[in-house]
Amino acid sequence: MEQVHLTGLTEAGLREFVKSMGEPDYRARQIFAALHRRRLRSFDEMTDLPKELRARLAARATASTLAVESRYISEDGTRRYLLKTHDNLPVETVFIPEERRDTICFSSQSGCPLQCSFCLTAKLGLLRTLTAGEIVEQIIVALNDAYGEGARTPRGTNLVAMGAGEPFLAFDSLMQALRIMAAEDGLHIVPNRVTVSTAGIVPRIRELANVPDRPHLAISLAAPTDELRDELMPINKKWPLRELLAACKEFEKSLRPGERFTFEYVLLDGVNDSDEHARQLANLLNRHQLRTKVNLIPHNPGDPLPYRPSPPERVESFQRILESKGVHAFVRRPRGRDIYAACGQLSARRATANNPSPALVHQLTR
Ligand code: SAH
Repeated sequence: MEQVHLTGLTEAGLREFVKSMGEPDYRARQIFAALHRRRLRSFDEMTDLPKELRARLAARATASTLAVESRYISEDGTRRYLLKTHDNLPVETVFIPEERRDTICFSSQSGCPLQCSFCLTAKLGLLRTLTAGEIVEQIIVALNDAYGEGARTPRGTNLVAMGAGEPFLAFDSLMQALRIMAAEDGLHIVPNRVTVSTAGIVPRIRELANVPDRPHLAISLAAPTDELRDELMPINKKWPLRELLAACKEFEKSLRPGERFTFEYVLLDGVNDSDEHARQLANLLNRHQLRTKVNLIPHNPGDPLPYRPSPPERVESFQRILESKGVHAFVRRPRGRDIYAACGQLSARRATANNPSPALVHQLTR
């Protein structure tokens, strides 16, 4: 019999599960708190459960499935975890400490089926979509590593579904994971602290708008015209800009006061970063009158990607043009580039002799 991964169950799901074992409801509450509030990774540590029950649980279920293969720490404090699923697939998670909060960037798939030309993850292809439990576990691993098992986190935790994979192709896992993580007697990371980034799976944008307690939305644009976007993000051939922006317009109705959604625009030297591209982008967004902001992300290079980051003057000029046309634009500073932890660099890289990572401070295997 396949083992049930309890980290992927809501408290209600756990109640069903303990019932099937002939146990009373309160066991579900205990186990849920042990997994998510105390962030325990094995039944052995749940010493508030009778030993006999722990043994029965271990026979039927598992409290953790991801193994930490390595950990890389950047000069800037960013940490990248290379994890392995039970079926030996790579999963990567990035912990980004900031002054007033921590951000955890998690993966929704191992690899990715979308073939964005500027992204290293694309080179892996899709290995598998992750389960809800595998998504939640990434957060638990990162918080435990940063602060110790079960320790209170000193700052708020924000989550971004911007690691490997296309979160809208992992929609059910993602929504289940968000429900689990929101629970007050668990991690208590509410959807308002979560941003989901999509390459533009149009039907799911519409669907997300109707989710009652939904996370924030970001959309990866990378080009202001269909011609260029087709080339950089082939998903555009399925859902071109016109359809994408129409879905955004629909989504806008679900925005709360003060809320905006974000467009991400990776800046590729000499490819999509001219003044003309900036004007086209501003006009496109203004034409649709979207309540939006643009995050400009200078390209994070990585072999064998054929691009270079735009030089700082280009980035500035691009930003200035957007601003002059009334589009709010922010430049995202890359974090963890030296350890292959920055946007678009997640491809299960290990530090090896032919791929040395100079700033690799610590590698941990367990
Ligand atoms: N599939 C989702 C989630 C990945 S998010 C999406 O496409 O939105 C990763 C973000 O990093 C996206 O905005 C993507 O456009 C950007 N990105 C990808 N490769 C990059 C690279 N090499 N340098 C900088 N940003 C990159």
